[in-house]
Amino acid sequence: MLDVDSNRQTMRLRIGGAWTAAADGAETEVVDPATGEPIGTVANADVADGLQAVAAAAEAQPGWAATAPRERGEVLRRAYELLVTERDAFADLIVRENGKPLAEARGELGQAAEFLRWFSEEAVRIDGQLSVSPGGDKRILVSHKPVGVSLCITPWNFPAAMITRKLAPALAAGCTTILKPAPETPFTAFAIVELLERAGIPDGVINVVPSDRPAAMVTEMLAHPAVRKLSFTGSTETGRALLAASAQHVINPSMELGGNAPFILFEDAALDAAVDAAVITKMRNNGQSCTAANRFYVAEQVAEEFTARLAQAVSTMPLGSGFEDGVQLGPLITTAARDKVGSLTQAAVDTGAAVRTGGSAADRPGYFFLPTVLGGLAVDDDILGQEIFGPVAPVVPFGDFDEVLPAINGVEHGLVAYVYTGDLARGLRVSESLETGMVGLNQALVAEPAAPFGGVKQSGLGREGGHHGIQEFLEPLYIATNW
Ligand code: ADP
Repeated sequence: MLDVDSNRQTMRLRIGGAWTAAADGAETEVVDPATGEPIGTVANADVADGLQAVAAAAEAQPGWAATAPRERGEVLRRAYELLVTERDAFADLIVRENGKPLAEARGELGQAAEFLRWFSEEAVRIDGQLSVSPGGDKRILVSHKPVGVSLCITPWNFPAAMITRKLAPALAAGCTTILKPAPETPFTAFAIVELLERAGIPDGVINVVPSDRPAAMVTEMLAHPAVRKLSFTGSTETGRALLAASAQHVINPSMELGGNAPFILFEDAALDAAVDAAVITKMRNNGQSCTAANRFYVAEQVAEEFTARLAQAVSTMPLGSGFEDGVQLGPLITTAARDKVGSLTQAAVDTGAAVRTGGSAADRPGYFFLPTVLGGLAVDDDILGQEIFGPVAPVVPFGDFDEVLPAINGVEHGLVAYVYTGDLARGLRVSESLETGMVGLNQALVAEPAAPFGGVKQSGLGREGGHHGIQEFLEPLYIATNW
């Protein structure tokens, strides 16, 4: 295991299998969001470093593409086993730089490891096709090649799983990579990469360039002819800018962007289970997840009881450092994140929302916000159109579902929705009427390495996980022939 304590003061860039400082010597500070105190520094890459990383990945590309699929799969399998064995050390690291409770960090690592296992199995299932053309004049031979050097940009909210979800399929497909992790959580990224190298990934196949000034660096990397793929997870706003930059060089993009998940509760649902699910879908990772339930539409017969029970449940969730026993809610990631949640909440209150619990930042060091439930909202209130990314649950009662459906679908995002009902046929009908890429039907957690994760509309392009995940890093080669 990477000795994070001794390395975290001096952590550098990883390029071509060597540790190196940023070309201009720049570093950034990493902060513990539970205290606001610095926990270390990390090299801060710029254009020259990014281009050096591209050159290293380009040099390693032919060798990695030519490595037997079984061998690529076995490296990933070994990485899976190492991560399972070393889970606790990784969990400590995630809590330190991201702030989430230790149990959630362990849960994330379970999923991060499963991406390695799933794609270790996918590496040897890259298939093709042989057929006769309809006219009978030729054979159609289709095989799949790695798309090539892949730039993977990841966020801070799941500092391990967002990385394995991209690197594992890229590596399984035979692509070399440059990872640009979030500046808030670089240490987990380095630890994951170091683990993959111990499992047998050759030098130059994964390169890491953390940066808090990524715009110019990424633009220049996308302009390099060796880069053929961009896989991005982050905000819709950054995704739009990166799509525009990719378009200049016709780079193949995969985009996992923002969400605005509705949680729809019908009067025939089991209320206990629905309240538990509401707490999970809203409060996991403190609401800092693109799949977080962002707005609760509740049948008017049960709206008051649901709101009261949800407020009661979240108001007793212990808040604190992720290392403390029993803590269920950590801090938000930065002061800016906490202040944004505060101003969205205040704006809702100013236009008539009722605070049922919480409603403000917590009075303690670090970036804590009280778990909050808001009632008294109308379907057209502003907060319902915004991705809150924090522990705030606005509840909207509805009478006729068909009347509220246009408002539910009338947002720019379309990642996931949650539907709770005791009538499975109704649940399936409603699921099909929602404009999202995923639905949790009486199910709070949808993310699953064996399933295609992704959204429609401005929530993104492409899918991660399942059989779709590896396809994002492959390109078909069609050979027309005859014999
Ligand atoms: P968030 O608001 O959740 O941090 P961002 O979209 O800003 O979401 O960040 C997600 C990732 O994208 C991070 O690694 C971040 O450093 C990176 N990023 C942010 N802006 C840019 C940009 N203009 N070009 C490339 N990467 C960027």
